[in-house]
Amino acid sequence: MNPAPAECSRAGCRDTAAWAVLWRNPRIHTADRRKTWVACDEHVGYLRDFLAARDFPLEVQPLTPSESTA
Ligand SMILES: [Zn+2]
Repeated sequence: MNPAPAECSRAGCRDTAAWAVLWRNPRIHTADRRKTWVACDEHVGYLRDFLAARDFPLEVQPLTPSESTA
């Protein structure tokens, strides 16, 4: 459920994630499946655009790291 290590999903980026991007690929995922990427401030736009360009349904939510045990 929780994206445990809050580290940006962008390849090569080790920044702390501040955003969760929930998405699915309608071609391969059923309607109740969702993938979660997490992203830093710098890359949330990149990941969102990457998915939006493919017409994947997506939702961006802020992460609240203060609630985690990190
Ligand atoms: Zn990043």
